[in-house]
Amino acid sequence: MKKIERRDFLKKSSLAVAGASVLTACNSKSESSGPAIINKKKYEWKMVTTWPPHFPIVGEGADKLAKEIEEVSEGQLKIRVYGGGELVPALESFDAVSQGIAEMGHGASYYWAGKIPASQFFTSLPFGMNSIQSFAWLQNGGGNELWKEAYESFNLIPFSAGCTGGQMGGWFNKQIKSANDLKGLKIRIPGIGGKVYTKAGGSAILSAGGEIYTNLERGVIDAAEWIGPYHDYLMGFHKISKYYYYPGWHEPTGVLELLVNKSAFESLPKNLQNLIEVTAASYNIKMLSEFEAKNVEYLEKIKNETDVKVEKFSDDVLDSFKKYSEEVIEEIVTSDPMSKKVYDSYSKFQKGSNKWVEMSQSNYNIS
Ligand code: CA
Repeated sequence: MKKIERRDFLKKSSLAVAGASVLTACNSKSESSGPAIINKKKYEWKMVTTWPPHFPIVGEGADKLAKEIEEVSEGQLKIRVYGGGELVPALESFDAVSQGIAEMGHGASYYWAGKIPASQFFTSLPFGMNSIQSFAWLQNGGGNELWKEAYESFNLIPFSAGCTGGQMGGWFNKQIKSANDLKGLKIRIPGIGGKVYTKAGGSAILSAGGEIYTNLERGVIDAAEWIGPYHDYLMGFHKISKYYYYPGWHEPTGVLELLVNKSAFESLPKNLQNLIEVTAASYNIKMLSEFEAKNVEYLEKIKNETDVKVEKFSDDVLDSFKKYSEEVIEEIVTSDPMSKKVYDSYSKFQKGSNKWVEMSQSNYNIS
């Protein structure tokens, strides 16, 4: 056995040496005819995003991702990033990349639920998996393959590229003591979470990030969910809200998405295709780490520097959210076969993963 491993290693090493000598040969050739980079075809791409221009963390993440691809490719692939509304309206990014108006798009897959109902399962699910479990499902549980399959007919390839981590339940100007207090509540919340509030007797309003503050301040809405302590603080919601509720049952993670036009991707040389894939993947952990670290700091700021009451949803309220979430998901999967296929894979993976998380992480005292 040892011998085989050794032989295998030697074989790989000799290939690496052969590769190195090819590189040397190329270099010496390019030295006489100018730098090799001049001979490489250059690409100039556009990236549209669902974020306001240079929006903190998530939009900046898209900016950094583009810059990193340009730097690592030594200028071979240059990507100009457009905030929402700069080239096309934020929520038209999907169509723009699908039609090749831009080669790339950055946002979140659940924005496209109207076109592809199954897309919403790739961002987050109420009472679903946390960030690490979600990455495990995408990478090793068949999630990425299903995501690609769902987007195939739109000439798009999706990659996960960024993550908000677990979120908060939201900012409220009414105290929520029981499920009864959800009746008549006007809340800004997208996706499945919004449908859950509607079932609970409230009304869900979808508004873009920039409008939430004013709507909450003027009492147009009673509540709004956004992300978590770090980003919410930057948005200023603590200045106009009385309560900050947890947990973010509706978004136990928030996986962000890089869309790439499939024809444009396939026209790239292999090195640039790989670079896009690797850089996108690196943003999952880079952004998640930033949120996880800064949420701690900003939660303390909210608790210590403001009058906001940080409260937990009661069991009664969480039980209602759970019951209605199951109903909403059931309605989606019974009306759309692809959603059923994705949810079957997701929920099977979650059941197994939860057992492992419980065994490995819940059996010791963390305080
Ligand atoms: Ca959210």
